[in-house]
Amino acid sequence: MAYDPNNIFARILRGEIPNKTVYEDEYALAFHDINPQTPTHVLVIPKGAYVSFADFSAEASDAEIVGLVRAVGKVARDLGAEHPGYRILTNNGADARQEVPHLHVHVFAGTDLGRMIKPAGK
Ligand code: AMP
Repeated sequence: MAYDPNNIFARILRGEIPNKTVYEDEYALAFHDINPQTPTHVLVIPKGAYVSFADFSAEASDAEIVGLVRAVGKVARDLGAEHPGYRILTNNGADARQEVPHLHVHVFAGTDLGRMIKPAGK
């Protein structure tokens, strides 16, 4: 899938749409999800134009990959989520119901998150 430069997270990166930023560096931006699923729900996105994890893992530079992973770890730590814990999740493609075509890592915390995932219809 080609990258759509008008997707909502691209517009957030360009400052065209406001966001509640929790962290920013050269490689990543982290902000609160607009429709939180848990008491703490933050999205961490790379600054580069990558549609998905598939795209990012294949095409991003080593520095971009390290930058995003370190940003996710720092955000979780700074949110105080390491203890008692947090979950990270990245939806990739249709079966995962990825809605925004710019890679984003969800960071869920602030409650007992239950076990793993629940498939549709279960
Ligand atoms: P996904 O289904 O993994 O693509 O998740 C997309 C996420 O982006 C959802 O959790 C939405 O609530 C969130 N979202 C959509 N628009 C915004 C926005 N303007 N600011 C913050 N989060 C957003």
